[in-house]
Amino acid sequence: MTDSERAERYRVRMQRKKEVIDAAIARADRKQGLLLVLTGNGKGKSSSAFGMMARALGHGMRVGVAQFIKGRSDTGEEAFFRKQENVVWHVLGEGFTWDTQNLEHDTETARLGWEVVQTMLRDPSFDLIVLDELTYPLKFGWLDLQQVLGDLKSRPPMQHVVITGRGAPEALCDAADTVTEMTDIKHAFRAGIQAQSGIDL
Ligand code: ATP
Ligand code: MG
Repeated sequence: MTDSERAERYRVRMQRKKEVIDAAIARADRKQGLLLVLTGNGKGKSSSAFGMMARALGHGMRVGVAQFIKGRSDTGEEAFFRKQENVVWHVLGEGFTWDTQNLEHDTETARLGWEVVQTMLRDPSFDLIVLDELTYPLKFGWLDLQQVLGDLKSRPPMQHVVITGRGAPEALCDAADTVTEMTDIKHAFRAGIQAQSGIDL
């Protein structure tokens, strides 16, 4: 094949690709608030959610965050986003007790936390809500899945919600518009490298 034949083939192939992509873009003509679920065992769930949060803030949107499991309070995202004027940041997992395994106590903590989320889900001034690690209270039965699904469904039509955490329940994935499962192929921690600022926290 000559160089010009190769160039022509390439041109035709790219032209076809462009037509397919343009048609797909033209078909997607609706606007609506999205429900996204980021789940799986691989790294990248919360950091992806906070990446979308940065995008939203860049567009002047208002963002609410609820963290359901209080891991560490020294994360870069918390330090950074709490300083932004369009951000409301709630830590709702303060009272969960891995130590005592007290179901009644944990259910009550989760219920009070969900009331905070309900307030945001009824407030159209929030353009995006990040429910970080929400899958755990669902998995452990601290929150009622049907209640959560119902509240998500009746939120303002243009409000986006991003939910992160391992083991997202099937019914939650069914209700979502976009679901991504992070696959754990390799993680530095298993090679003995401690969590690194800017990457892991
Ligand atoms: P990130 O916040 O980095 O996006 P994540 O939200 O996907 O991670 P979590 O299960 O919430 O994952 O865990 C948070 C912390 O655990 C981070 O420091 C992350 O690097 C680390 N981590 C995530 N996945 C793994 C894994 N598969 N093995 C070891 N450590 C992990
Ligand atoms: Mg996470």
